[in-house]
Parts: sequence; structure tokens; C-alpha cells
Amino acid sequence: MSLSPNQVRLMMIQVADAIIEAEPMLSQADRDLGDGDHGLGMKRGMEAVKVQLGGLDPASVEQVFVTTGTAMMTSMGGASGAIFGTVYRAGGKAQAGREAFDSEGLALLLEAALEGVMKRGGAKPGDKTMIDAVAPAAAKARESVALPLAEALKAVAEAGEAGKEASKAMIAQFGRAKTLGEACLGFPDAGACSVVIMLNTMRDYAGQPS
Ligand code: ADP
Ligand code: MG
Repeated sequence: MSLSPNQVRLMMIQVADAIIEAEPMLSQADRDLGDGDHGLGMKRGMEAVKVQLGGLDPASVEQVFVTTGTAMMTSMGGASGAIFGTVYRAGGKAQAGREAFDSEGLALLLEAALEGVMKRGGAKPGDKTMIDAVAPAAAKARESVALPLAEALKAVAEAGEAGKEASKAMIAQFGRAKTLGEACLGFPDAGACSVVIMLNTMRDYAGQPS
């Protein structure tokens, strides 16, 4: 099972809607640890994504993801504009030459996203950032390449969720939460919450493509 470029476009519009709907939860997550702007930043980015993808007749999977990343990067600003823009721009470029989005494409997307974000922002697993959701998701995606996409996404979304939960026990080394020390224990990273929403929405779409 694989998704056509247009199905990937529809999937990413659903991802955008899910993030926009989760704005209050994401804002609260960032308020617990940071400055509280994560939800509104992601919402602004995803509104720009919907504008760009809305009128697109995509020629490739790469184009859909790169368009998503560019829209986020140019509309959001701040740390997360660069970080989430890199997720989709680097992950999209890794789809070059692939005609459809399948389990191998998912692994390539997450591995390139992880590498790109680590290079761009300098954080690593355990620093209490969105990397703590992306890294286990990428590893699970690589393990799951032989599964149909919907099955792979189920396992990958679970791994991302477990990573987000694990971030509760981490002390932040990046962003504003860095100054909190042990006061950040018990709260998940806001960016990791966004990653989980994205993966859950991809899983739901792949289970029932429209
Ligand atoms: P800002 O930090 O500018 O307020 P946001 O609140 O929108 O931006 O986003 C914060 C999120 O960005 C964090 O929860 C974290 O997941 C992610 N983040 C911040 N810095 C980095 C980094 N260097 N590497 C990876 N992710 C990061
Ligand atoms: Mg913030």
C-alpha cells in the first residue's frame, strides 16, 4: 500500500487541521515549560500550509513535503519555524525520485528529518525537544519497512507517543525551558506533542485514505 502525491497532499491538509485544532493544548504545553507561543506558531504555520497545499496539483511526494516545510519556515519564525520547516524540507528532499509514499518513504522522511533537525539546532536525543519523539519514530519506521504503510504508521505513532511520554522525565537543555532545571520534570516537551499529533493524523489517514 502506498499513497499518491495527491493523497499525501490530502494527508498533510488533515495534519494541518489537526494541529490547528490542538492549538490550545500545544499552547498550554509550551506555557508549562516555555513562553507559551508554540501553539499559535504552529497554527500560523499550518494555516500557511493549507493555503499552499490547497491549490497545488502535486507532481511528486517530494513537492508536497517540501512545500509544507517551506510554508512553515517562511510563516512561523522562531525556533520551531526553522525546526519544523526542516522536518518537512529535509524529509521531503529524501523522497526525490520516489513515485509514491510507502513504508520505505516514511523511514526516509523521518530519518532525514531527524538528521536535518539535529544538524540545524544542535540538540540530541535526551535534551527534551521534539527530537525525543522523532528519534524513536524514525527508528521504528526503519524497523517497519516491510509492513504496509498503515501498519508501519501505527507502530511509528506509538513509538513517537512513547518518546513524548519519556520526555517528561528529561531536563531541558534547549529553549526557554533550559532555565527551569528540575521544574520541567513531569511535563512533556511541546514540540514532541506536535510530532505526536502529526504522526497520529498520518496513521489515521493511511488507515482510511480518501
Ligand atoms: P520558541 O522556542 O521560539 O518559543 P516554540 O515554542 O514554537 O519556539 O517551539 C518550541 C519547541 O521547539 C520545543 O518544544 C522543542 O521541541 C523545539 N525546539 C526548540 N529548540 C530546538 C532544537 N535546538 N532542536 C530541536 N527542537 C527544538
Ligand atoms: Mg515557545
